[in-house]
Amino acid sequence: MQIKDAIVTDHPFPNAFSPELLLLDHGSGCRLTDAAGTIYLDLGAGIAVNALGYGRDDLADIAAAQMRKLVHVSNLYTTGPALELAGKLTGDRFAAVQYMNSGAEANESALKFARMYAHRGPSGEDGDNAERHKILAFTGGFHGRTYGALACTPTPKYQEPFGPMLPGVEIAPYNDVAALRATLDGSFAGVIVEVVQGEGGLAAMTPEFAEALNACCAEHDLILIADEVQTGLGRCGHVFASDSVGLKPHIITLAKPLAGGLPLSAVLLPAAVNDRLHLGEHGTTFGGGPVTCALASHVFDILTDPAFLATVRERGEQLRQGLESLREAHGLGPVVGAGLLRGVHVPGTAGDQPRIQALATALRSAGVLVLRSGEDVVRIAPPLVISAEELAEGLRLMDTALSGL
Ligand code: PLP
Repeated sequence: MQIKDAIVTDHPFPNAFSPELLLLDHGSGCRLTDAAGTIYLDLGAGIAVNALGYGRDDLADIAAAQMRKLVHVSNLYTTGPALELAGKLTGDRFAAVQYMNSGAEANESALKFARMYAHRGPSGEDGDNAERHKILAFTGGFHGRTYGALACTPTPKYQEPFGPMLPGVEIAPYNDVAALRATLDGSFAGVIVEVVQGEGGLAAMTPEFAEALNACCAEHDLILIADEVQTGLGRCGHVFASDSVGLKPHIITLAKPLAGGLPLSAVLLPAAVNDRLHLGEHGTTFGGGPVTCALASHVFDILTDPAFLATVRERGEQLRQGLESLREAHGLGPVVGAGLLRGVHVPGTAGDQPRIQALATALRSAGVLVLRSGEDVVRIAPPLVISAEELAEGLRLMDTALSGL
C-alpha cells in the first residue's frame, strides 16, 4: 500500500474499488478534510447518505449514550428506540416496518413480501398461486447487489459476471406507459421502481407513468414497491418522493440517510402484506438495533420537518437553475433529477478521456467532490443542510472547471 498526498494506491480492497482512493480524515458541515489537510466541499454526501452533514455532536451524543445503555438485543426482543422509530415510520399509513441493514436487503425483503402476498392469494392461505411470481423492474433501475435486487438492476456491468440471475424478473422501459400496460398481467407478483433513478442517470418518473403504475397494479392485484433508498426522507424535497408524482406504492423501502450514516434500512408494509406473514418467515440479525434506531428517530424528526423540506425544495430549485445555466454556457445535455438529487448530462470527450471524468477530476483538484450517475451524468447530491452560499460556490467552481476542460 502507498499513500501520497492523501491518495492511497496498491490498497488492500478488492479490485472492484478504484485503484486510487482519497484518504479522508474528518468532516464538518458540508466540508471534508483529507489526510493531507486539504478541505473539500462535499456535493456527494457519501452517495446521498450524509443528509445532515459532518461532525454533528447531536448524532455522536445519541450514539454514545445508546452504546453505553444497550447495543444489541436480537429480534427475539425489542427496545424503546426500535419501537419509537417504528411509530414514526409507519405513521397512519403503514401497518408495520421490517428493519434491515442496507438498501439491497430492504429491496430483497420487499421482493420476498410481494411474492409471499401473491402466493397466499386473497384468502391469505398458502394455495396454488405459485405460478404468480414474476417481478417487473425497469431499464436504468438500480436496486442493489444481492441476487434478488441485482436481478432487478439490468445494467450489464453489474449482472454479467455474476449470472445466472434470479428467475422470474422481467424488465420494461422506464416511463413507457404503453409498454407497462402491455407487459403486466396476472402472472406478476409485484413491480419495483425508483421515482428518480439515482444510479441510472437520474431520470425522473413522469406523473403519467406513476398513474399507470397505480392503475395496473390495482387491476392485477400486484404489490407496487417504491425503492426510495436514495430518494426518500427529504432528498427530493418530500418525505417520500413517490408522493410528489402521485405514485401510490404498497411498500416503500428506505435506507441511505435513515440512521445518520450508520447502516439501517426499513421496509414499510401495508396490513395486506403483514397479515399474510407468519412467525419466523423473515428477519435479520443486526437490523433495527437500538443504536441505529435511536439515531434514526432523531434524524427522522429533522428530515421530515416541513420547514426543513421547504428549504430542501428551495435549494433544489437553486441547483436546477444553476445546472441549467451551466448547460447553456457549456453546451451540456439535459438537466435531470429532482430536489437535491440532480445532475446534468456531460457528453463528449476532453482530450483522451470522457468529459464527465475530466470534470470530476478537475473538480477534485479545485476542492469539490461530486458523484456520477449512469454513463455521463454528473450527480449533485449534497448534504441536505447545504447553505445557499455553499451551493452557489459549488456551481461557480463547476463553471470554472468546465471552462478549463
Ligand atoms: N436502491 C437504490 C435506489 C440505491 O440507490 C441503492 C444504492 O445506491 C440501493 C438500492 C442499494 O443500497 P445498498 O448499497 O445500501 O445495498
